[in-house]
Amino acid sequence: PDQSPIYRRVLLKASGEALMGSQGFGIDVSVADRIAADIAEARAMGVEVGVVIGGGNIFRGVAVASAGGDRVTGDHMGMLATVINSLALRTSLTKRGVDAVVLSAIAMPEICESFSQLKAQSHMDAGKVVIFAGGTGNPFFTTDSAAALRAAEIGADALFKGTQVDGVYSADPKKDPTATRYERITHAEVLQHDLAIMDTAAIALARENNIPIIVYSIHEQGGFGDILRGGGRCTVVSD
Ligand code: UDP
Repeated sequence: PDQSPIYRRVLLKASGEALMGSQGFGIDVSVADRIAADIAEARAMGVEVGVVIGGGNIFRGVAVASAGGDRVTGDHMGMLATVINSLALRTSLTKRGVDAVVLSAIAMPEICESFSQLKAQSHMDAGKVVIFAGGTGNPFFTTDSAAALRAAEIGADALFKGTQVDGVYSADPKKDPTATRYERITHAEVLQHDLAIMDTAAIALARENNIPIIVYSIHEQGGFGDILRGGGRCTVVSD
């Protein structure tokens, strides 16, 4: 079989919740290790990988706002949560011998490098996995938007959205047994039918920059590599 990948450079978005595993909070190291194994497989195929991880397993800004606190402070806490997750993933990658670097949108030089587009490009060109921490660095945004933004900045051929299910469905497959899965769908259709795969800002940014979004199950071991080889189970969102 032809093992050459169909994408040269990709951005992988995983939610913080994915890292939580079956626990109710925090990081399940075995899950971080498994995601690292998928990334290692992609690197072995020669694919350049950037990663954005959410922070929802630790903290979400809206939690502060809904408890009567300041949303901006809550979002700062959420962005810090993404840094914790990013360091956990870097640790899992390093354990496997995969060269990885964390670039944070919020400067914390004692802990990791600060993000700049040029630095990201040069690390990726050098074959390192670049983990983008701190979201966009701005409150009122999400890590989905950060993923679409970084995908555009690094010139990614595709934005991989790792989710709990194996693609985009006409309705929530966990609630509606008649829900059907799409093989392909356009960004415009996703927006029009409000198919909540990523927030609308992220989908709009991907569409404007002609970046296909690949929705697949983050829990399927080897699924990432299968899709990179042109197979696997996923929905391709592209115009
Ligand atoms: N966040 C933010 N700006 C960003 C990205 C994230 O303020 O650009 C904050 C926000 O409070 C969010 C939290 O970080 O709730 C965690 O990110 P997200 O909810 O996107 O994580 P996920 O749902 O993917 O785990």
